[in-house]
Amino acid sequence: MKEITAAEFDQLVLQGNKVVVDFYSTECPPCEALAPKFENMAELYGEHITFVKVYRQGNRELAEQLGVKSSPTVLFFDKGKQVADMISGGIKKSELVERLDAMLPQETVANIKSKITKHTTYCDALIIGGGPAGLAAGLYLCQAKVNTILVDIQLPGGQVSTTHQVSNYPGFVEPQPGYMLSHHMSEQTRLCGTQYKVAVDVAHVDLHNKTVEIDAFETIQAKKIIIATGASPRPLGIPGEKEFKGRGISYCATCDAKYFNDKDVIVIGGGNSAVEEADFITKFAKKVTMIHQFAEFTANKQAVEKIMANPKVSVLFQSEPRAFTKQGDTMIVEYENLQTKERHTISADGIFVFIGMQPNTSLFGNQLQTDNWNYIVTDEDMQTNIPGVYAIGDVRSKKYRQITTAVADGTIAAIHISKELM
Ligand SMILES: Cc1cc2nc3c(=O)[nH]c(=O)nc-3n(C[C@H](O)[C@H](O)[C@H](O)COP(=O)(O)OP(=O)(O)OC[C@H]3O[C@@H](n4cnc5c(N)ncnc54)[C@H](O)[C@@H]3O)c2cc1C
Repeated sequence: MKEITAAEFDQLVLQGNKVVVDFYSTECPPCEALAPKFENMAELYGEHITFVKVYRQGNRELAEQLGVKSSPTVLFFDKGKQVADMISGGIKKSELVERLDAMLPQETVANIKSKITKHTTYCDALIIGGGPAGLAAGLYLCQAKVNTILVDIQLPGGQVSTTHQVSNYPGFVEPQPGYMLSHHMSEQTRLCGTQYKVAVDVAHVDLHNKTVEIDAFETIQAKKIIIATGASPRPLGIPGEKEFKGRGISYCATCDAKYFNDKDVIVIGGGNSAVEEADFITKFAKKVTMIHQFAEFTANKQAVEKIMANPKVSVLFQSEPRAFTKQGDTMIVEYENLQTKERHTISADGIFVFIGMQPNTSLFGNQLQTDNWNYIVTDEDMQTNIPGVYAIGDVRSKKYRQITTAVADGTIAAIHISKELM
């Protein structure tokens, strides 16, 4: 695998044969999550496809020419032409594999796959998800000498990694950049001895038999399973959203706000996340227009006062987006004024969506008891309806979702498990 610059792009990519290009940035957790997968793919497919990386911040013009709007973005070329749709954000290994396989003859793909051997790994406790909840559980388990594996589809850190600043986690006088706080948590747990298998695809979770398959070739068999998969930004579910995700629509200000220097941005939402992240985006953008469905923001008073006093921010209250389209590089939002029922359009260089979260439970099908919003129901020791299976953090049905409450859940589950395994 090779790191190239814009000057080499023409010769190595446009005049090359089969080439895959990863546009990455620094201080970008999804880019860090992709890096080991990309390397692994280069080892498997490297005989037939060339893998290159381009530093996006250092090669902005090239990235813009190719329509790369967020990091990481992977593009697939064959003889200078793009042969698959580009993929961005939290890229799964399976998304890469699907596109790489399509670039090669079937026999070659079969030959590559035959080199992968399946095996089973055994442990006492398996934690699924490495946010604050999973990391706290991992720390307590390894300190109790419980043989523990932590798996995550990304790098450890969870939502905190993409939070601009955290000012309410006890122990720090000054606000902490989210990625530093999650880095410290992750290193503390890893150095204690919890085994990490991160940036992997997680599939086929059998909670009754306590098995989980990762990356399609390894099965992990555990005595206890802790679910700590947290929550993800809720999509709006309107036309154009999927199509332009990563190409004008973002859900992560920490990752992407820096690409909107002196540009116009639209922020959709009006709760704490939307208001705080909109304020952060004004460090870069020249103008931020917020679209919010109610007549007032639902964020806390202090944050609302701050955003309303920010001269770069204007707000369309009682309005809801209905569709996204794009003209050239300009994103267009069609929105409805909920009072008059009239539809209007507004355009900007980029759109950020912050309309709340949804639990990451799709992996478990209907094996678990959940509440009306799909959050997993537990008892006060964090045990679910399935013996030996625990749920902690934001994925659990509870009233308050914070780093401190996630960490508390992880602590309780780990102490309970340590005692049970004694
Ligand atoms: C913008 C923003 C700002 C915030 N600011 C603050 C703040 O200032 N203070 C505060 O206390 N809280 C804040 N929060 C809330 C806080 O981040 C969460 O409550 C906390 O991160 C929950 O931790 P968790 O471990 O339960 O889940 P998460 O942090 O969501 O971590 C879940 C982990 O599970 C992994 N995962 C997901 N699906 C799978 C799967 N299928 N298989 C394996 N792994 C999986 C994810 O990759 C992730 O690493 C903020 C949240 C947001 C979105």
